[in-house]
Amino acid sequence: MDAKAKKPAVFLDRDGVLTEENGYITSPEKLKIFPYAEESVRKIRQKGYYTIVITNQSGVARGLFTEKALQEMNEYLMKQTHVDAIFYCPHHPGGKVEKYTKECACRKPRTGMFEAACREFAIDMSNSYMIGDRAGDIFAGQSAGVRTILLESGYGTGGLEAEVTPDNIMQDLREAAMYLPDATEHLQNKTAERI
Ligand SMILES: [Mg+2]
Ligand SMILES: [Zn+2]
Repeated sequence: MDAKAKKPAVFLDRDGVLTEENGYITSPEKLKIFPYAEESVRKIRQKGYYTIVITNQSGVARGLFTEKALQEMNEYLMKQTHVDAIFYCPHHPGGKVEKYTKECACRKPRTGMFEAACREFAIDMSNSYMIGDRAGDIFAGQSAGVRTILLESGYGTGGLEAEVTPDNIMQDLREAAMYLPDATEHLQNKTAERI
């Protein structure tokens, strides 16, 4: 892929970022999308980023809901927020459903979902961000080599499972969307330089 066609991405965790953190969500009806999610995603896209959800959904491995139910939730989330794509990890090493019970390369803090996204989209990782509400999101973003924003809209920063050093801590996705630099200017400058 030609470098000039690349765009940065904002990788988004799902629960606590686009939707209310409420344990294992088992169906679209139980997915409570934040009222500002759609508008925030639009703003991020207008600023020149792909919006790509990467979410751990070990409830599939644990037998709490099926992969098909998860795909229905994904369709609903895409329809409501217009994110570009959703990548999910259904696995867990301590699961109950054999097919999904394993140590995988995709469960955050591992980086498999970033790599999958990079195979599907031409992503400028050097100007990309990971936005999440838990330590694993921040560690995953750091391992993938992107900037990280920790949000307080999910688990809250008081109860983090591990000490993290995100590049920024913000209240919610609305604030992050306002803060993100305009990547279209960056692209225009690059084009201008080339001419
Ligand atoms: Mg979360
Ligand atoms: Zn996985």
